[in-house]
Amino acid sequence: MLITNYGKLREALDEQCRLLGRDPAAVTLVAVSKTVGIESVESAVSEGARVFGENRPDSLLEKQRAHPELQWHFIGNIQSRRIRDIVAASDLIHSVCKPTHLPKIDERAREIGKVQRILLEVNVSGEETKSGFKPAELPRVLEACDAYDALRVEGLMTMAPQGDLEEARRCFDALAQLRDRCSSLEFPRHGRVELHELSMGMSEDWKQAVACGATMIRIGRAIFSEDFES
Ligand SMILES: *Cc1c(COP(=O)(O)O)cnc(C)c1O
Repeated sequence: MLITNYGKLREALDEQCRLLGRDPAAVTLVAVSKTVGIESVESAVSEGARVFGENRPDSLLEKQRAHPELQWHFIGNIQSRRIRDIVAASDLIHSVCKPTHLPKIDERAREIGKVQRILLEVNVSGEETKSGFKPAELPRVLEACDAYDALRVEGLMTMAPQGDLEEARRCFDALAQLRDRCSSLEFPRHGRVELHELSMGMSEDWKQAVACGATMIRIGRAIFSEDFES
């Protein structure tokens, strides 16, 4: 059986929550399995993992079919023509960042009789290479989402710039503040938006993210890579 660091990471996360006075049950550890095969997924499951993240539709479908009892989250770039598959296989989509994808996700979700849970990806840092809505666009995007019955926006997601933990922390704080501001908005059809989830933090910066209120951290290398130094 392959060894993963899932168990160790979950312990470190629980410890970090206790230090911060946060409830460990309020932070989901999403094991990002995009670079590993099904055996590694199964090893992580044996250490307690239940929620996995994938960034390519094909491996999402393949792994979800092998283990439909687990939760599968899509965290990658969304192409219109793959929305059919992504909606079919995802419990949660973290990376919605184009207004034109909203009606397509809604339509596909209705077709297969589900309500698709989504997060809106926000480009907090403003780096041009990053995808995501601009913070100022969010109220309008949330208003657009109010038109759809088979879409449920549950929160926000961001990726911080790599290599500078203070900058990452500013970025996570800004996402938390944005969530708070948007949570007071009310729309005609579904009322107040409930943005419970903050998906932020990866292998290098998850402690900063948890300190800023992350409810989901997305960890790949620190779980699955042998030579990741934390
Ligand atoms: C790969 C990836 C992660 C995990 O990154 P690590 O640095 O390996 O922990 C998290 N989020 C997204 C969107 C990713 O593509």
